[in-house]
Amino acid sequence: MAARLGVRKWGAVPAAACRNPLASSRRWSRASADSVYDVVVSGGGLVGAAMACALGYDLHFHDKKILLLEAGPKKELEKLPETYSNRVSTISLGSATLLNSFGAWDHICSMRYRPFRRMQVWDACSEALIMFDKDNLDDMGYVVENDVIMHALTKQLDAVSDRVTVLYRSKAVGYAWPGPFSMADSSPWVHITLGDGSTLQTKLLIGADGHNSGVRQAAGIQNVSWNYDQSAVVATLHLSEATENNVAWQRFLPSGPIALLPLSDTLSSLVWSTSHDHAAELVSMHEEEFMDAINSAFWSDTNHTDFVDSAGTMLQYALALLKPTKVSARQLPPSVARVDAKSRVLFPLGLGHAAEYVRPRVALIGDAAHRVHPLAGQGVNMGFGDISSLMRHLSAAAFNGKDLGSMSHLTGYETERQRHNTALLAATDFLKRLYSTRATPLVLLRTWGLQATNAVSPLKEQIMAFASK
Ligand SMILES: Cc1cc2nc3c(=O)[nH]c(=O)nc-3n(C[C@H](O)[C@H](O)[C@H](O)COP(=O)(O)OP(=O)(O)OC[C@H]3O[C@@H](n4cnc5c(N)ncnc54)[C@H](O)[C@@H]3O)c2cc1C
Repeated sequence: MAARLGVRKWGAVPAAACRNPLASSRRWSRASADSVYDVVVSGGGLVGAAMACALGYDLHFHDKKILLLEAGPKKELEKLPETYSNRVSTISLGSATLLNSFGAWDHICSMRYRPFRRMQVWDACSEALIMFDKDNLDDMGYVVENDVIMHALTKQLDAVSDRVTVLYRSKAVGYAWPGPFSMADSSPWVHITLGDGSTLQTKLLIGADGHNSGVRQAAGIQNVSWNYDQSAVVATLHLSEATENNVAWQRFLPSGPIALLPLSDTLSSLVWSTSHDHAAELVSMHEEEFMDAINSAFWSDTNHTDFVDSAGTMLQYALALLKPTKVSARQLPPSVARVDAKSRVLFPLGLGHAAEYVRPRVALIGDAAHRVHPLAGQGVNMGFGDISSLMRHLSAAAFNGKDLGSMSHLTGYETERQRHNTALLAATDFLKRLYSTRATPLVLLRTWGLQATNAVSPLKEQIMAFASK
């Protein structure tokens, strides 16, 4: 087992960095050198903070010592700002259920969120589209600002501070596992060194430290990864007129997908994935020009060809004859009139997947385990799905008095989540590539594929069920 971990001596931990005397004295009072925790979550982003909440509110963990380490400062909103943040996430119904299970969803509802009831996805090179909605137009998911989710999680963590210790501005700089070279130290736990040189131990280390995960690297877990030739530009946009604004729109341009997510009757959030150069241009261009670029990206038919349009129309007729049921009609996206000042920012995109999610005494969750293109709006939802799965296994282990770091239940988590996440990663990567081309045979194939999928309700329902987990 130890060999599988790429074993390091306790002494092999990198030296302390970035000392802060004030922070360090506070830390020593809370995490002394010999502190042994049942679970340490390294990384307090959306996924790590939610994991710490899930542990803190689980009945079977009430007698356990839990620690959350976050390199950054505490993120609380003293007051909800009038201006919407440019960083938002589409939250699936499954993720909302998880957030509700430890009380964070109530905070989100009392602050700000926007349900969406339809999702229209269409091709810029043809008339093909797919429309997702539910019977009676029930909510399909929610658009929530990341700051609002983080605030809700922080509030819930504060409420269980007797069970969950949170150390902000505390970067873990070294992890070491027991192994043959460490016989001098009889401790079987994972050793963690913080930036101020203090050390602690844990029976289970959960790596939630993002796509450059130090936990993953220290554990020697292989990661398949590549950078996409795209960056995503995000911005908060003002619509030219107030609408019901309950549709999530996404159009596949040959340069990458552009999405508009509802925030309020008059505001939407933009996520536009495009080449790095174009993204940089979009961020720096004049506001009027930026608005024209967005409106044209949603409305222009310059990428259409008569051949594909005719072939698409023929299939549409054939499908209507075969299956004369009502197919949701194409809707027109709203046009945008203005962008919030300073809300334009870009993020380089990439894919990553850890070959293993677990090792003895270690589990990876969130972007530490998988990084996905935002075209499916699934990154944080996959992370929340990891938490639900891992909690089920850990809670049962705690109830049965088992060793939390044992592979006997950690592998159950890994199997369950890798099955789900690899399918999503592969599908997202495939779509990104399929829609990056203007080659007529491929445009025709994807046009027919999208039209056929749109016409087959059970298939659409399966896609929706999978994405809502
Ligand atoms: C443009 C864009 C749009 C997106 N839209 C969506 C969407 O609509 N829906 C969706 O589901 N997903 C979306 N995503 C993906 C989503 O944002 C990520 O999947 C999610 O934020 C990952 O969260 P995480 O907590 O796993 O990682 P991170 O957010 O990277 O958090 C990692 C945390 O660990 C901390 N940390 C790192 N190293 C250490 C250390 N050594 N010690 C202590 N702390 C450490 C960091 O400070 C950070 O707080 C989008 C992504 C992008 C780029």
